[in-house]
Amino acid sequence: MADRIQMKNPIAELDGDEMTRVLWALVKEKLLLPYVDLKTEYYDLELMSREASGDSVTLDSAKAIQRLGVGVKCATITSNAARKVEYNLKNLFPSPNGTIRAILDGTVFRKPITVTCVKPSVSTWEKPIVVGRHAYGDQYKASEMSIPGRGKVEIVYTPEDGSGEKRITLAEMKGAGIVQGIHNLDESIRNFARSCFLYALDEKLPIWFATKDTISKIYDGRFKELFNQIYETEFREKCSAAGLTYFYTLIDDAAARMVKSAGGFLWACQNYDGDIMSDLVASAAGSVAMMTSVLVSPSGAVEYEAAHGTVQQHYYRWRKGEKTSTNPIALIFAWTGALAKRAELDNTPSLGAFAKKLEETTLRTVEEGDMTGDLARLANPAPPRILNSWEFVEAIKKRLDA
Ligand code: NAP
Ligand code: MG
Repeated sequence: MADRIQMKNPIAELDGDEMTRVLWALVKEKLLLPYVDLKTEYYDLELMSREASGDSVTLDSAKAIQRLGVGVKCATITSNAARKVEYNLKNLFPSPNGTIRAILDGTVFRKPITVTCVKPSVSTWEKPIVVGRHAYGDQYKASEMSIPGRGKVEIVYTPEDGSGEKRITLAEMKGAGIVQGIHNLDESIRNFARSCFLYALDEKLPIWFATKDTISKIYDGRFKELFNQIYETEFREKCSAAGLTYFYTLIDDAAARMVKSAGGFLWACQNYDGDIMSDLVASAAGSVAMMTSVLVSPSGAVEYEAAHGTVQQHYYRWRKGEKTSTNPIALIFAWTGALAKRAELDNTPSLGAFAKKLEETTLRTVEEGDMTGDLARLANPAPPRILNSWEFVEAIKKRLDA
């Protein structure tokens, strides 16, 4: 233990719930603490801890990420009616991820982790495609109305300062139907663009952005204009210095090109496109347990996590004594992502080298045939046997120590 790698500054550590909480402790004990003198500010976001603190622990953890610049988060239960009964909760607090995202004003990037023995469904993909989803506004903050019959529907803007209102006709309805009003904010779009360019520079990925601005000239046109403006004024030089290109096209063209591409780029998507395309890319890439998720704030602060949830059903089986075969890879990569970022900010190359080594060793473990059930079902060649989570972590550790 004496020669463990030292850290200069701490990262915010956000613990969570159920099976991922079990794996969190396992990964720390076996794969991190023996090698790194971990410096973290620990926040327990387990459901009962959020309940006991009136959810202030979630707010504190988000502020810690902002202050320290780097956070790593375990999956957490989003409370709902069923959880209220299960845990005898007094309150239903909003999803911790939603709360943290709102404070950091960040964009979420989902990136698949690939191994050679699991081929993506799209044969041309050689490298992962990262989807960045603008998680504010549009259909997700829409106002909708059903219309009973003939009549006029208008959009009215009433300025706060009392100056002249703006009014346009949305539709002269010829009969019963439906209407929807959506909005977005310039500042949110600018911050989305900033987060995308920051992430792309970090990961050294070219950037694609696409909307339907031929049809939606003002709404999608504004997205295109602001994205372009942020690129030209804040990132063009940095991108050229890093050899990265920014490419704008129409969303249907982007969808068609994406499936013929070799991958290896960041696809910045509007909210609705990102919702769909992130699931499409995730599913085509392989297992849900192989998807990482990074929240990037326009200030540059980053939070790393696994994209999957708390794996509730495995947890119930674990509580009954079963050694489940739950895949810890995305959790491991959440930690390595955070440690590598800390190393970069603190200029501590030995920490960065450790993060890289742990990632490579984890992938090699799978590629040499030691894996959990979710991957075994997809792998070619199929492995001789399926490991449980504890055996899998030991298999990584054995190689790490070799
Ligand atoms: P989930 O935890 O992602 O699990 C859904 C299914 O996906 C599992 O039953 C399992 O399939 C498979 N799976 C997911 N992760 C896996 C892993 N690491 N290894 C192997 N298989 C894995 O989703 P959920 O069960 O719908 O949600 C459970 C809880 O998580 C909910 O309370 C939800 O609120 C929360 N959640 C949190 C986050 C977050 O904090 N970021 C995200 C999503 C959901 P099999 O059963 O077929 O093995
Ligand atoms: Mg979705």
